[in-house]
Order: sequence, then C-alpha cells, then structure tokens
Amino acid sequence: MGFDFVIVGGGVYGMATAYHLARLGAESVAVLERDEPAAGASGGLGQRGVRANRRDLRELPLMREANRVWPTLHEELGGETGYARTGGTYLIEGPASTGFKGIDAAETYARMQTAQGVPTELWDRERVRSVYPGISDDVQGASFVPTDGVASHERTTLSYAGAARRLGAQILHGTGAASLLTASDGRVTGVLTDGGDTITARREVILLANGGARQLVADATGVELPIWTIYPLASQLRTSTAARIPMLTGHETRPLSVKTLGNDVMLSGGWRGRATPNGPEVVAERLEGNIAVLQRIFPYLHDLEVVAADASRAESASVDQIPIIGRYAPHLFVAAGWSGHGWAIAPVVSRLIAEDVLLGSPSPLLAPFSPQRFR
Ligand SMILES: Cc1cc2nc3c(=O)[nH]c(=O)nc-3n(C[C@H](O)[C@H](O)[C@H](O)COP(=O)(O)OP(=O)(O)OC[C@H]3O[C@@H](n4cnc5c(N)ncnc54)[C@H](O)[C@@H]3O)c2cc1C
Repeated sequence: MGFDFVIVGGGVYGMATAYHLARLGAESVAVLERDEPAAGASGGLGQRGVRANRRDLRELPLMREANRVWPTLHEELGGETGYARTGGTYLIEGPASTGFKGIDAAETYARMQTAQGVPTELWDRERVRSVYPGISDDVQGASFVPTDGVASHERTTLSYAGAARRLGAQILHGTGAASLLTASDGRVTGVLTDGGDTITARREVILLANGGARQLVADATGVELPIWTIYPLASQLRTSTAARIPMLTGHETRPLSVKTLGNDVMLSGGWRGRATPNGPEVVAERLEGNIAVLQRIFPYLHDLEVVAADASRAESASVDQIPIIGRYAPHLFVAAGWSGHGWAIAPVVSRLIAEDVLLGSPSPLLAPFSPQRFR
C-alpha cells in the first residue's frame, strides 16, 4: 500500500494536516492512528482553552492567526467545534518572587501582547471583584484578553477528520506505526505497521504522534527529541452554589486552569497523573491538592463534588516548553512537544505544515520552533 503523504497520529494535528493537504490539492493522503481518532490529548473530558493570554511570545503570531480562524471553523469544516469566545483572564497575586511575574510585570506583558495583535487589558482589584464576586482577597489584578475562549477538542478533531475524509484522505484507525522505513541515503520512505504491513510514502512521512514521535525518530535517525510524556490531570467538579467563573481563567503563579461546563467547573493545569506499568492513573492526593488551589482562589466553592477525573490523555512536553516543528531527515516532518498548549494554535500550525510539505513553502511563523535551535 502506498500514499504520497503518510501522517502518523490521528489527533487534532494529524486530522487537521490531512484536511489542509487535501484542501490544497494533495490527492493521496493517509492518516495512521494506532487507536481511534482523538484517542490521545485531542480527546477526553471537557474542553480546551483557546488562549493567547500569557503564551510564550513566540507563539503569539500563531495565536493572532488562530483567532481569525476559530470563530468560523465550524462552517469551513461542516462540523461542530464547540468554540466559544468567552474572554480569558490570568489572575495576579503580586508582587511575585520572580522577576517574570507579579503586578509589576503585568503592564509590560499586556503591552507586548497587544503589540503582537492580542489586545490585552489590565484589571485592578475592583474590576476583578466585579467580574468574579467572592474571589480571594489575595488576587490583586488580572490580565484580560477578550479574544480568548474555549473549544470542544474531541468534536473539533472529529470534524477535521470528517472534512479530510470528504476531500479524499484515508483515515486508517487501528493501524499503529511500529517503525519508520529508511533508504540507504537516510531518506524516510514509509512506515512498517504494528501488523507487519509496509505503507510507502512517496513524498513525505509526517509524524504527528505527540509523545509517540520520540521513539520513532530515535529508531530511524538516532536523534532523541528533547521531549517527554506528561499526563495532565483534568477534573469535572460540581457545586451547589453558582460557580461564578464566567470565562477561561488561569493564574499567574498557581497551577490553575478553569473553565465552566454548564454549572460544573473543569479544572486542569495542576499536579498531573502518575505513570504506572498499567498506564497513567489519577492520584487522589494530587487531585485534592489541585482542588485546594481552586478553593484558595474561590473560597466559596467549599462543597465541590468530583464528577469525573482523568489523567489518561498523554501530552508531550519539550525542554524549552515550546513545540518542535520541522524535518528530522529527508522526507520526515515532525511536530511534537506541545507542552500543554498545543490545542489553540492547531488550526494554523496544521495549515502551515501542509503548505510546507506540499508546496515547499516554509512559513516564517514556524521558524522559532525549528529543531535547529537544539543543534
Ligand atoms: C488534559 C489536557 C488539557 C489540555 N488543555 C489545553 C488547553 O487548555 N489549551 C491548549 O492549547 N492545549 C491544551 N492541551 C494540549 C493539547 O490538547 C495538545 O497539545 C494537542 O491536543 C496535541 O494534539 P496532537 O494531535 O499532537 O496529539 P494527540 O491528540 O495526542 O494525537 C496523537 C495521536 O497519535 C497516536 N499515536 C501515537 N503513537 C502512534 C503510532 N506509533 N502509530 C500510530 N498512531 C500513534 C495516538 O494514539 C494519538 O491519537 C491539553 C492537553 C491535555 C491532555
């Protein structure tokens, strides 16, 4: 079996890149997914934040583009994304002990974000209290980005898959890549599947397998990607009082990321799940620790009941906390190391990857994420 482009990984990046390749005219595209579409970080509980606020500055040009795409993406794909532009805050308890944080640094961050096309407001204590009645007195301010929001990761990923399929891409689920095939000159020529089949890539293998990329690249090229696997812990919490958290909410110095799901609270961003020989697991003390951080900031949420908790969705983190996007060998394009914030930029990064591999036009927006930075 052979295709022009063989994508490994059926998360949002694999599906969206297949969609863009097909939309740009590629006639022979396959996505190999070991499990089922959205089985990894692009699926599971709750929603994902579409956040520019306090992102690494190198990612802000991508977010500016992504903010143009998200509101109408459901129309483009002919499928749901669950996107909602709620606005988003980063709460500040300053001054902080590190020079990068605190109320003193907030104005500079806001100015830099605004200059990068992400209009940012600074809120004082009173403004924060008017939006978040009952919030802890420790919170002294917030940085607010009106264009931030949330999306349904699973629905969006499946909508990309549907759109890619309608344009002719093949999605082969239950098909894992055991190793990459290489020619004697180092060119990557295809994939050997878990079942022992050979799938030839006439033009390029595009490795979008998140943490699964590391072993495949190491085996084929001898290069160890500077990434590792993490298991973010997401929980859905129920309260008998109103949550009073009207938008995507993060915190500058506490590990806290909050969204609301109807009347429930979705909490992530704190202590993670634990890897065990039987797979990742939720550790009760870590979950309690995360809830304690939430209750410290929102003290009126004292009666939280855990409806669901999940740490099974593996994500890859990179050594400098920004993704690695580029070629590791001739005909081998890799993107991984999203470091917990790969969701929001996916619609733009996937398009730029497709343009690079199909048209040979690398985007300057992806230059900061090149593997060259480690060499
Ligand atoms: C709990 C949680 C909360 C998050 N919150 C946010 C957020 O608020 N905002 C944000 O921007 N980002 C967030 N992220 C990060 C974001 O979801 C991820 O960066 C993004 O979904 C990564 O997409 P992906 O397609 O690269 O990876 P994945 O969705 O993990 O897809 C990779 C796929 O590759 C498959 N695979 C692996 N190895 C192989 C192989 N050898 N052969 C075939 N298939 C293989 C896997 O089964 C998987 O389906 C969060 C992540 C988690 C887990």
